[in-house]
Amino acid sequence: MVICGPGGVGKGTIASRLVAEVNDLSLSRSWTTRRRRRGERDDSYLFVTREEFEDAIAKDRFFEWAEFLGNLYGTPRPDPDMDSDLLLEIDIQGAKQVRQKDPDAAVILVIAPSSDEQRHRMVSRGDDKGTIDERVAVGQREVSEALKFADYVVVNDDLNRAVSEIASIINSLRSK
Ligand code: 5GP
Repeated sequence: MVICGPGGVGKGTIASRLVAEVNDLSLSRSWTTRRRRRGERDDSYLFVTREEFEDAIAKDRFFEWAEFLGNLYGTPRPDPDMDSDLLLEIDIQGAKQVRQKDPDAAVILVIAPSSDEQRHRMVSRGDDKGTIDERVAVGQREVSEALKFADYVVVNDDLNRAVSEIASIINSLRSK
């Protein structure tokens, strides 16, 4: 299951809530070359150097990877024997790669109710103000692209509602 969307739509919060509330669902731990933010949990990513990341690309260790704002992010190839469903919380470029590689993956696109709301969330979580307008514009272009391949589109207008909508999607996929 893939949760994707542009920056500032709240997909990280939604993904953490889902793994806490839905049985047998685990969150894939991505690798990144980004530095750990102040106060960020050290298990939120595997923080690696660019050399370590490029070495893993060369060894074909990633299921998908992408560059985002100058840093590399990637999903390690999942363990084929794991007995829970795997949730990926990744950007739209990565979701497009998953879509191409795994026809069984369910791609859920999360969008903000408006670009003003998305901008507001980026400001309140302390993102660099100089790049917010550009990131909102890039996000809008990515969303138009993602609408072509996503299986579900969920508007994050209210966190509890969005989480329960996605939990219902997961339950209905499991019962199929
Ligand atoms: P952040 O630096 O704010 O934690 O994440 C930046 C962006 O990278 C977010 O859109 C996040 O969803 C995305 N991201 C996190 N992990 C991965 C990954 O493994 N692959 C891809 N393609 N994007 C990721």
